[in-house]
Amino acid sequence: MKNFLQLILVALLFWQCGAPQEKSSKTSIVCTTSMVGDAVKNIVPEGVEVISLMGPGVDPHLYKATQGDLERLQNADVIVYSGLHLEGKMGDVLEKLGRIKKVIALSNGIPETDLLHPPENPEGHDPHIWFDLSLWAKGVAFVKDELGEIYPHWKDDLGANFFAFEQNLLSTHNWAKSVIDSIPENQRTLVTAHDAFSYFGRAYGMKVRGLQGISTVSEFGLQDISTLVNDIVAEEIPAVFVESSVPKKSIEAVIDGCRQNGHRVILGGQLYSDALGEKNSPTDNLIGAFKANVQTIYSGITQKKLPQNLTQ
Ligand SMILES: [Zn+2]
Repeated sequence: MKNFLQLILVALLFWQCGAPQEKSSKTSIVCTTSMVGDAVKNIVPEGVEVISLMGPGVDPHLYKATQGDLERLQNADVIVYSGLHLEGKMGDVLEKLGRIKKVIALSNGIPETDLLHPPENPEGHDPHIWFDLSLWAKGVAFVKDELGEIYPHWKDDLGANFFAFEQNLLSTHNWAKSVIDSIPENQRTLVTAHDAFSYFGRAYGMKVRGLQGISTVSEFGLQDISTLVNDIVAEEIPAVFVESSVPKKSIEAVIDGCRQNGHRVILGGQLYSDALGEKNSPTDNLIGAFKANVQTIYSGITQKKLPQNLTQ
């Protein structure tokens, strides 16, 4: 039944594409996640409309396109998405739209050898590429090149804007390395609700544990909780973290489990994982959200404020 409904929606989409429609004269680029929207906003020339379908706190693994989204996607001049099955439930729609308009996957700019394979699915790829800012910069470079092919008169602007954004990404990347380096080595373990931080761990030197796998689609079970609790108790991990796009109850169960085993673990704070912060806040962009995460991780684990020389 679900498939049938999806078919009808897609058929409707194709049918409407042929019909005359009102459309603003602005070039419109529709992006899936807020991270992708942020990347595109940073590089396109002024005056281009950039829309992100998924707002703050939205989980892309579970997100289904609404009727409004389908209209926006249908009216878009170009669609940019993250890829590697991050937008699991939008895959069909994106693929079908790719036959009638330009659809760009940011992750296509990242070499296969740079990608991580989740242990539960060794053939697949971990989609959380924005947590290694140097990797993300490669994906954004690909989007810049693709947009430059479609709009050759944008090339100068795209090049200059990308250069500035890349510098910002790379300087934040180096800063994050220094901050994590300053945490005592035996405390560099990041425990979160789902496995969103493997690229982060590899890039900045932390061990990473998630209660759920790389997708939030499958539910965690009691066995997952007790395995994680045992590890936290054995390794005397001081803090665990909740995520802005995953319900808190999973990590709260882990904290309770540790307490019952005589180990006090604190809630280190909330991390932005698969969505950015509220609009018009310092975390409504990737670099802002990333910096907030690094500071939260540092102070959650060490229970200290960031030293003056590392404050940004
Ligand atoms: Zn995720």
